[in-house]
Formats: sequence, C-alpha cells, structure tokens
Amino acid sequence: MTDADGSVSSLDLDGDRAVSSSDLDGDDAVSSLSFEHVPETDQSFENALEKARNGERLTVADGVELLATGTDVEGIDPVRKERVLEAADRRRAEVVGEEVTFVANLNNNVTTACNTGCLFCNFKDTAHQFEAGHEGDHGGFTKTPEESRAIVADALDLGIYEVCSVSGLHPAFALNDEHHEILRAKSDERDLNYKPPEAYETDPGTYVEQMRAMSVGGVHLHSITPEEAYHARRGTDWTYEEVYRELKAAGLDSAPGTAAEILVDEVRDVICPGKIDTRGWIDAMEGAVAAGLDVTATIMYGHVENEMHRVMHLKAIRDLQDRTGGITEFVPLSFVHENTPLYERGVVSGGASDDEDELMIAVSRLFLDNVDNVQSSWVKYGNAKALKLLNCGANDFMGTILSEEITKRAGGRYGEFRSFDDYVDMIAAVGRPPAERSTDYRTIRRIDLDGGPYGPTLGPKADGSPMLEPARRGDDDARREDGAARADD
Ligand code: SF4
Repeated sequence: MTDADGSVSSLDLDGDRAVSSSDLDGDDAVSSLSFEHVPETDQSFENALEKARNGERLTVADGVELLATGTDVEGIDPVRKERVLEAADRRRAEVVGEEVTFVANLNNNVTTACNTGCLFCNFKDTAHQFEAGHEGDHGGFTKTPEESRAIVADALDLGIYEVCSVSGLHPAFALNDEHHEILRAKSDERDLNYKPPEAYETDPGTYVEQMRAMSVGGVHLHSITPEEAYHARRGTDWTYEEVYRELKAAGLDSAPGTAAEILVDEVRDVICPGKIDTRGWIDAMEGAVAAGLDVTATIMYGHVENEMHRVMHLKAIRDLQDRTGGITEFVPLSFVHENTPLYERGVVSGGASDDEDELMIAVSRLFLDNVDNVQSSWVKYGNAKALKLLNCGANDFMGTILSEEITKRAGGRYGEFRSFDDYVDMIAAVGRPPAERSTDYRTIRRIDLDGGPYGPTLGPKADGSPMLEPARRGDDDARREDGAARADD
C-alpha cells in the first residue's frame, strides 16, 4: 500500500504478510538491505557446467554457479558465460527444435486502479482517484464488461485468437454477486481493500462478468493471476480451486503466472509487501491446475534480489511443475526500473545487465528440465536483445499484443503493436523458422516463407489474411483505450 506521500505504509492487506519496507527511502537503502540467502555454494562452476551439459537435474547450488559464472570470481566471466549460453542453446534445440513460436493476441486490461503499491510497478493509480466525485485527471482507466467485450470482438476480426487480461486490484472487484454481499457486510474491515461499485465513477463489474464478456467467439481467454485470484476470494473461505472453477465456467481458459516476481519471501517483503506470499502464489497456481486450467510461470528479476534468490525461484517453479505438470511456458521478465518507486527512492540504481539477461534465460532453460518453452520478451528486452536471447535458450517470442501499457508506464521503450509480418521477418532474419502457436502450444504451424504478406490461421476468424495494423493513435490515452498491459509483469 502506498500512501499519498509516496511512503510505504505498514498496512498489512493479508493479515499474515509482513510489511517491512517503510525504511527504504534514500541512498542508504541499497546498502542497508541484507538477506539471509546469499549466493554462496560448495559447488564449482566446472562441475555445474558438466552436469548441465550431461542433462543431469541441477541443484540450487549448480544453478547459482552457472548464473554467477562461478562464485569464485567477481562479476561475470565472459568466457564462462559463453559456455553456459552454448549449453542452453543446445538444450533448447534438443527439447523444442529450431522453430521460434509466437501467438496472435490482444492485451485487454480492465483497470489501472490498485492499492497494492508494489515498489517495482508504475502501472497502477491509487484507487481513491477513481471514486465518484474525485477531482483531477488520474490518467488511468476502468472498463465495464461491455467495453471489454467490444474490444475483444474488434480484435477477433483482425485474426487474434488469444486475449490476455491482467488488471489492477480495483477495490470494487469481487468474484460474483455473492462475494459482493460478503464483502459489503465486512466493508469496515480496511484490510479487505473493498469499496462497493457505487463508490466509483465506473463499475468494473465482477470478475465473472468480465470473463463472460471477454470470452467471445471462441477466443482463448488467458487471465486471473494468483494475486487476482486472491482478490477474488478475499474475506471468504473459498479455495483457489473453487474460485478458478467458477471463472472457468464463465469462459476462462488458462491463467498467467505473473505476480510471481521472486518467490522468496525476504525479497517479496521488500518489493511487494502488499502481495500474497510465496506459499499463497503456489497455492493459487495449484488451485488453477486442479480446476483444469493450464498456467504459465514468470520471474521478475534485476532489482534487489541476488543469484541465490533467482535460483530458489526456479526451484519453486520446477517443484510446482513436478507436482502439477500444468505449466506451459516460463517467462523471464527483466525489471524495467525507470519511473518505479524502487528506482526513484534509490533502492536500486538500475536493472539487470545484458550479461545477466542472457544468463537468466540460459539457466532457466537448463534448470527447468520439465518446462518445454522459455519466452524471450521483446517488450522488456527490446528487439535486438530479444532476438539474441533466442540463441541463449529461449524458443518463444511473445505475441502481437496491440500495445504494452505497463512497460510503457514504467519507462520501457518497447511496448508497441507488432504485426504478424514483423514477426516473420525478424525471426527469419536470424535464421530460425517462424511458427504461430496456440496459447497452450498444442497447435503449432510453421510458416512457409513465400514472400508474404503473412497472417494468422489459428483463430476463429483467422484465415491467413494479414492482421490490419490498428490506426496509430500516438497519445497515451488512445493506447489505454486499446487496453494492453500486464499489470503484474
Ligand atoms: S504489480 Fe499489480 S498488484 Fe502490484 S501495484 Fe502494480 S497493478 Fe497493483
């Protein structure tokens, strides 16, 4: 929770989540952070690399040695780094071959109203600004279910077949009408982060209503992160599985594993103290899979965490996949630091280096021996680096997202619509065969390079025609109307 003066308050939104970052202002913050988990191991880099090359399951110590290019040296050793990247690239070829996949999709985010106050996020607008009668332009948005439906229906006509929707945790959001009644009865409990819809200028509807609205004409609906699932059951004793089952019945097809950040609580306590803890995130993912949904998984790295935290996170994901088998892809997300509270308060001085990005992709590929697909997110890395990462272990290149509001708001420069043709050109230019895929990777169509123009074929209205580039609407307001972001990325 971020107070009006920008400081982090000690309001505990969950009751069992410690909030400890109120002392993070100023230059002393970086040096004052001390963690229990540090990148020290009794493994050697050479042993770890040998195990990776042989396809043996890696330990956390192995992963740390590879990610650090040896804890016996200061900084990244460029020769060792290349050996790690080479091993990961070879593993990628063995597991998924040469094709580089992408999906024709739309991001439609319902609202930027959020009180959670994550210190790495500049997507949200504190929710009181959205209340009826509030004066001043907050620059954010809330969409009704009807507006969401119209946006998805328009995009379907362009040939998309996936809609990804991740939103701020609007206090008026509830799972359904019954949930509203439960929350109304408890609305004096501040830690529930609830206000009824009539308090706001625009009613976002319920989560069920938004799912029904966006599930149009056979589109694949990818939505409801673990944090949103928590919000959809706050104040109740409903299980995550029950919540996801109800959302699935309303049209939800799969759940994004964002809001993961770093799945080590001592890091979460610093960067997102208002969010569910590691256990809560894993419980939610297990609930989604138990409800019959595919899920994805992410890591958001390059802020206050160290190599030990990153590999502990990978271990949590690998264990989850061993138990569930439901994770279709892993998406490393490099922290975009500009305009975020972490950067503006001097807690961090920047994001990950190019070397760190390459190694994160490579070690993800080598460590996650039970997840087939690793994504290179051009929205976070930019075109040139994202293409390079396809040679470091990644095999997927995201989707045609009509824009990327969240990364834009955080100062990233790369959030734009990417046409189907652009994908084919870029991937072919680095000598790899482009292929469109369904969200769940169960259908993959390699694209014949015949000069184009190229278009999607896997969607309900996709017949191979090129996707029309929407009229460029250069100002931020227009982009927000397009709706295109992942709040928890
Ligand atoms: S990351 Fe998500 S939950 Fe956290 S402040 Fe941003 S929108 Fe809210």
